[in-house]
Amino acid sequence: MARGILVTGGATGIGLAVARHFADEGETVVITGRRQAPLEAAAKEIGATAVVCDHTDPQAVARLLPRLPGRLDVLVNNAGGNTDFDAPAGAGGAGGDGATPEALEAFVRAFRANLDANLLSAALTTKAVEGRLAPGGAVVSIGSIAADKGSGAYGAAKAGLASWNLGLARELGPRGITANVVAPGYIADTEFFRDHLTAERRAQLIGSTAVGRAGTPGDIAGAVAFLASEAARDITAQVLNVNGGERGTR
Ligand code: NDP
Repeated sequence: MARGILVTGGATGIGLAVARHFADEGETVVITGRRQAPLEAAAKEIGATAVVCDHTDPQAVARLLPRLPGRLDVLVNNAGGNTDFDAPAGAGGAGGDGATPEALEAFVRAFRANLDANLLSAALTTKAVEGRLAPGGAVVSIGSIAADKGSGAYGAAKAGLASWNLGLARELGPRGITANVVAPGYIADTEFFRDHLTAERRAQLIGSTAVGRAGTPGDIAGAVAFLASEAARDITAQVLNVNGGERGTR
């Protein structure tokens, strides 16, 4: 029987690769995102259902529910990104002339945007669908190497995501549902960096891996597929690093 699968932020990059993998396997896949045009194009291309949804907005998430399969086997909390790339220069960063009330207000807005986009979005979506998650199911959330390297509010949000996942795994475990985080390193061919990645920085990121290559969205899709598979039923409450060895574990 086809599994019911929700991939948030599934129109581009990692989410699209994850959704494509499951659709190619014959699963019933719903993808979401805020922009209708790329979402519908992606859904048509891979054979998924597209639903416009901002996962930081409780009303939008409530409106998503009737569009989902009644039984959800896999939830992939992928929507997110470093919102500082979209913020006015300096609003999310440290230092500078940040002590005026206006600058502090801007800092708070920028900081909260990252927490909302990367942590609250996953928690809110999971809360909304947890009642329809099926036994044997899986929640996989996309974290980041930034959680360990430190990267302002974005890294803090991804670190919080991994911490939140620990409690989720305990909550869902008795129902036979796993909860894990996949933490990518630098993944090329996504919209993540907008126009913020210089050639030097890209070379530096690749040079700091053990394998000497950028990760691909397909690398992350493979890891997500494994965690959502029968082979991973005893793996829960974990962070699976997929970073070409940029940071290792003992
Ligand atoms: P993309 O920008 O290509 O993908 C992010 C997707 O999420 C977009 O399709 C975007 O669509 C959607 N999205 C963002 N915010 C929301 C929201 N509030 N509600 C609904 N959809 C949303 O980048 P990636 O594929 O690289 O990013 C996927 C995940 O991987 C993110 O969580 C990111 O933090 C993480 N990651 C990426 C790394 C990389 O090097 N690329 C490294 C480590 C982690 P729309 O704008 O239309 O809503």
